[in-house]
Order: sequence, then C-alpha cells, then structure tokens
Amino acid sequence: STIYDTLIIGGGPIGLACGIEAKKKGLSHIILEKGCLVNSLFNYPVNMTFFSTSEKLEIGGAPFVSNNHRPIRREALEYYRRVQTTWNLNVHLFEEVINVQKENNNDALFTISTSKGSYLAKTIVVATGFYDIPNLMNIPGEELQKVKHYYDDPHLYAFTDVTVIGGANSAIDAALETYRKGANVTLVIKDAEISDRVKYWVKPDIENRIKEGSIKCYFQSRVTDITAKTVTIQSIQNDDEVVISNDFVLAMTGYQPNFKFLSKIGIQLSDDALKKPFYNDETHESNIENLYLAGVVCGGMKTNSWFIENSRVHAEMIYQNIEEKLKNKTAI
Ligand code: FAD
Repeated sequence: STIYDTLIIGGGPIGLACGIEAKKKGLSHIILEKGCLVNSLFNYPVNMTFFSTSEKLEIGGAPFVSNNHRPIRREALEYYRRVQTTWNLNVHLFEEVINVQKENNNDALFTISTSKGSYLAKTIVVATGFYDIPNLMNIPGEELQKVKHYYDDPHLYAFTDVTVIGGANSAIDAALETYRKGANVTLVIKDAEISDRVKYWVKPDIENRIKEGSIKCYFQSRVTDITAKTVTIQSIQNDDEVVISNDFVLAMTGYQPNFKFLSKIGIQLSDDALKKPFYNDETHESNIENLYLAGVVCGGMKTNSWFIENSRVHAEMIYQNIEEKLKNKTAI
C-alpha cells in the first residue's frame, strides 16, 4: 500500500496548515479528521465571535475577508472551506485515528489504524486540539440531559431558568446571549471576579448586567447538586447553600486534550497537573522519533496557551525539520 511521507491527525486550522506546508515541500500527505472539516469550529456556539482579527487566522497565504475585523464562526467555516478548495489537500473526513504504532522500535515506518482502514507513513503530526472532552464537575445530576458542556443557540433557552457555570469567555458569552433572548440567568463563578481573559469589550457588559441585577451572579461559589428542577449553589468560603429553580445548566468549565489517546500512542506527559506532552521547542518533535505535535494540543491542560494565532507557525517549524531529515536521510 501507499507509504505517505507524512500523515496528519486532525483537520483543524493547524492540521490544515501542516498539510499546506507538506504540499509546499512536495511531500505526499494525508490528513485524517474524525468529523467534518474544522470540526471544533463547527461545534462552537452559533453566534461566536473570534477574539482574533481575521488576518491572524489566515493559513496558506489565503486572505481572510470578514465583514468586521473580528470574524464570526460562520465566516471562519467558509474561510477554511475555501482554503481547502484552494490547496486541494488530501483530507479524509469522518475517519477517526484509533492508534499509531511502530511494529517494533527500530522500524522506520508508522502503522496508523483508523475507524475505516489502515495506513503507512514516515512521519506523523498530531494536531488533535482540545475541544472533544469537557472538564467534568463530577457532581450529582451532571448526567442529566439539561446539563450541557457545549453551548449552541440562545433561542433554545428563551423564557427558561438558566444556570451558567464558569467565569471565562465561553460562560460570559452564554450568559449574556441567553439573557438577551429572555432567559432568567444565574451565573456561578468559583473566583471572586470575572476573568481577565474575558474579551475586553465584553467584560464591562457583563459587569454592568451583574451590577444592575439583570444577571444574578454568585462569586466564589460552586454548583454541588443538580436535579430535574433545581440547582444547589454553595459558597466556597462558608459552605452556605442556596437552592434555585432551574431548567438548563450550561457548564462552561473548559475542555481538555485526549490524554488517553496521547498516552496510548506513546507520547510522554508531564507528571504534574498540566500533563504537558513532551516535545522539542524548536522542532515540535515528541519523545517518539518522527512524530510531532502541533496546535493547541501542545499545551496540555493549559488549553489557553496555544491558539490559532500563535500556533500556525508550528506547521512551518515541523516541516522544515522533516525536510532537513529527508535531505540528510536521517531516520527516514
Ligand atoms: P482543533 O481546531 O481543535 O482541531 C483538532 C481536530 O482534530 C478536530 O477537528 C478534531 O475533530 C480532530 N481530531 C481529534 N482527535 C482525532 C482523532 N483521533 N482522529 C481524527 N481526528 C481527530 N483561537 C484563536 O486564535 N482566536 C480566537 O479568536 C479563538 N476563539 C476561540 C473561541 C472558542 C469558543 C474556543 C473553544 C476556542 C477559540 N480559539 C481561538 C482557540 C482555537 O479554536 C483553537 O486554538 C483552534 O481550534 C486550534 O486549532 P487546532 O487545529 O490545534 O485544533
């Protein structure tokens, strides 16, 4: 069967950027994506606005034209779709990578097994992001259908009692949007204030809604129990509890990379809470020779350290290294 010079896991913005670099260097490539093209972006809230201006989200030299200087989700989907029609990358959609192995340690080739078949490749890039696995609260009631870790469309919540958990961008966007569609919103935040990471033009909006009482906010608090009709909120300082009526819980508690997958394929993770995958800062090669890491997956639990803007460059670093290796015929 075909032996690819490089196989890229994940068809997000950074996986696509890697495909483009490989193509520029004349390397045979394949990108395997378990969902649709830029699957994470597809699953963002429907009205989501990027904090980045559009030119900072560009890859492969394709200009990103948006109506406002900060694009919205729909424009980003259209943009990356057009990048694909421009570059005609070899992307297989709806094909999940299950495992990556070398038959024995000194084998040069990787064998990749997927939900639909298997492949051979000389190099691998893991660009699997962090949006597939939500951080769970592990509290009673979390499994109820009304508890969501992915917020979608505000209309669904009109005229209902909504509890939003979290103090960062996703939570604040969800609280403001659902409030403006007529939901009765209660916000529960473990910190004493709204996070400094909240988009600078959104922060005063939420602070003023809380001050005027339009959105009720419990700071330094956590949700401890969820039932079909209620939510229990507990103060972190003095354990005081209040039970409020509730129709929906939007648990915007963040997401994490698929550590199980990373470990399964042999990538070392740091021992601390960060679980940072090991890679060389200059080449992005992991502890496994010829297997690289690109994009937000590089941050481990610190999922805000890398984003599209600052990790596009990983693609160039990686393929420069791969090209040098091919030239010097080391390992491949
Ligand atoms: P992803 O886009 O997550 O792509 C990873 C892909 O890998 C996914 O499509 C996934 O389906 C696929 N995949 C995972 N596992 C497998 C597998 N085993 N087999 C096959 N495919 C697999 N960044 C910015 O720069 N600017 C912003 O304004 C911005 N706003 C954001 C807003 C929100 C709400 C969120 C959640 C993130 C935002 N980010 C922003 C961060 C940005 O979305 C991510 O940095 C970006 O998606 C990272 O791209 P990536 O290619 O590394 O990962």
